[in-house]
Formats: sequence, structure tokens, C-alpha cells
Amino acid sequence: MDLYEYQGKQYFARFGIPTSPGGVATTPGEAVIQAEEAGYPVVVKAQVKVGGRGKAGGIRLAADAGEVRRHAEAILGMDIKGHRVDVVWIEHASDIASEYYASFTLDRSAKKHLCMVSAKGGVDIEEVAATDPGAIAKVHVDPVDGLSVDVAARLVADAGLDEEAQGQAAELLVRLYACYVEGDCDLAEINPLILTTEGRVHALDAKVSLDDNAAYRHPEWEEFAGTETLDEREVLAKEKGLNYIGLSGSVGIIANGAGLAMSTLDVVNQAGGTAANFLDIGGGANADVMAAALDVINTDQAVRAIFVNIFGGITRCDEVAKGIVEALGRVDLRSPIVLRLDGTNAVEGRAILAGHLSDRLVVEETMLGAARRAVGLAGGNR
Ligand code: GDP
Ligand code: MN
Repeated sequence: MDLYEYQGKQYFARFGIPTSPGGVATTPGEAVIQAEEAGYPVVVKAQVKVGGRGKAGGIRLAADAGEVRRHAEAILGMDIKGHRVDVVWIEHASDIASEYYASFTLDRSAKKHLCMVSAKGGVDIEEVAATDPGAIAKVHVDPVDGLSVDVAARLVADAGLDEEAQGQAAELLVRLYACYVEGDCDLAEINPLILTTEGRVHALDAKVSLDDNAAYRHPEWEEFAGTETLDEREVLAKEKGLNYIGLSGSVGIIANGAGLAMSTLDVVNQAGGTAANFLDIGGGANADVMAAALDVINTDQAVRAIFVNIFGGITRCDEVAKGIVEALGRVDLRSPIVLRLDGTNAVEGRAILAGHLSDRLVVEETMLGAARRAVGLAGGNR
């Protein structure tokens, strides 16, 4: 779950990471009240879960109540990359001497946490990585050892942060690491991390992504519920207990097992198509699960064909076939199904399906053959 900037900053505060005083507002009137509280000058910031708000005009400085009102009026309701602004964050404006970058995330291939720091902050870090990779200092952190102040100090020195900022930045990194680990984040990023003209180092922005798998040990995350920007398809899938991730293509996908589902995405790509989703129905591919899966895919208006890819191991293909036939009787599908059924009892399964085949339900022998067929039915290469 991604947090809004203001939520990220509140999360940072729990771990002692310094930010500017501020508050949220949903109306220009509230914005003025928050500005009086924070103290002028203030900055009015659009709260949307996309970057580049500054460039889009969603971040504006204000010297008095009149300006706050005007900016809040302009920003509230604004569309930033398809996200409507319903909330603004008002904080006391900082006098910036330098802008840096700092983040923690997981480096899966190294099996360690990765900390990145750069003296080139305030700009897109991907751009820095592409044009000036040497400007990003990195260190892997072994989760068993954790991050010491010494290692953090060396990192900020390597990154070339201003000397007067280094001590505070190193301490802040240790706190950001605690936030990332104890706070169960997938990503904790500060861009920009700033040095103020008064010599203070603090977070001017916050990008925090929480690891949903850790929600069970964070009852306090409840407060973030309801502010999530959810994919309607994912909401429905969650209600039905399905392991579903929405994507932007035209071939709906159902597979049993996460590995097979991922291979199915690959093979659809190989066949020149694009997947509309990831959906792993696990081992229990009975009629209820199959009907629920088809229901969710059916609500996706972009879907033109559905590729059901089942490999029977413990799951028996005859059971799956029965499930599909029964589910087809319950769900009024908009798109044709291409089915690949292999493994345990595949022959029995195909026999069950034989009487139900039509141009709306097609069986293919191989995974690649089925992918090609589904991509063709979905309108081919795009
Ligand atoms: P983003 O564009 O969505 O990443 O939003 P940020 O919160 O990172 O802000 C973008 C830029 O606005 C920063 O890099 C700063 O240059 C500027 N900015 C934000 N807050 C302040 C502030 O308090 N004072 C000043 N002078 N500039 C600010
Ligand atoms: Mn930023």
C-alpha cells in the first residue's frame, strides 16, 4: 500500500525523522487555518500518489492567507496524471540550501536491503541513475547486522553531501532504516532531503510504500484504510478471496499456481499480446473459485479473450473441467475462453469439456498454442 506524502511524513515522525510542521485540508478555508497554525510562509502541496507534482503545478509557495486560499482553490480538484486532488498538505515553507536524495528498498538479487544516497536530490532519481550514476552512493545492509551510524556516515560522505549536513544526515538515515524495517516498508524514500539555510537537515517529501503482508502486525495501519487508491477489479477480487493483480492488457488470465500464472503472462507476451491481469486460483479450481475468477475478469472492459491455463498436479483436471462447465452456466461471459488443460486426469477433463466446446470455449493442446489463440481472439498484436 502506497501512502500519501502527508501519511508518509506522519509515519516518519513516529521514528523521529524530522519534517516541517503542517496539516491537511480539503477546502481553501481549512487550508488557511492550517497555514496560520504552521506559520507563514507556507507551501501548499497536492496530495496524490504520483510523482512530479511540482512540475504539474501542484506545489506552490504562499506568503499570506490570500495566497493560500488562491493556491488551495487552484490545486484542490486539479487533475495530476489522472489523479484528482482531494486533499492538500500545508506546511511551513523551508529555505533550501541543498537538496539530496535518500532511500531504502529491498535488493532481491542481493538478498539485502539497499540504501541509496545522492547529493543530486529534488530531481527524478531514475534520471540521475541514467545520466550520472556516479552521483548515487549505495550500500547494502545485511538485515541481521542492521545499519550503524558509522556506515551511514561513510555513505553520506561518499555521496558528497555538504559537510555541515553529514552528521544529521547520517543519524536521519539510521532512523529511516528503523522506519523501513520496523515499520515494514517496501520503500522509504525522501526526495528531496534538504539542508536548510539555518543548517537543519530534514525530509521535504515522503514516499512510503507499506508491505501489505505485514499488515497483521500493524493494527495502526487501519488509519490508512479508505485512503487507498484502489483498482475496482482488485477490490472485487479481494472480496472474493482471489489472488489477483490488475494489468492493462486485453487477455484475461486464470492459472493455478503463482509460477504458472507468471509464465502465462510471459507466454502471452511472447505471442504478441498483453495480459489484462495476473490471477492465481491456487489448487482449488472448483466451480465456485472458477466462477469467481471469471466474474472478476468479466468486469474488466478491456478484456477481449480469456486464457485459462491449468496444470493438474494435486489438482485434477476432471475436477477443473467440471468447475469450468458449471461456472459457465453461472457467469454470462463477454469474451471467449481459450483453455489449456494438462497434467493429472487431463484426458478425463477434456472428455468432460468435449460436449461444451464452441467458438466461445476452445481447447488448445499446448501453452504457447493457447496463448497464440487467445491473443488472436483478443485482436492480435498491438
Ligand atoms: P514532487 O514534485 O511530487 O516530488 O514534490 P516534492 O515534495 O518533492 O516537491 C517538489 C519541489 O518543490 C522540491 O524539490 C522543492 O524544490 C520544492 N519545494 C517543496 N517544498 C518546498 C519548501 O518548503 N520550500 C521551497 N523553497 N521549495 C519547496
Ligand atoms: Mn519529491
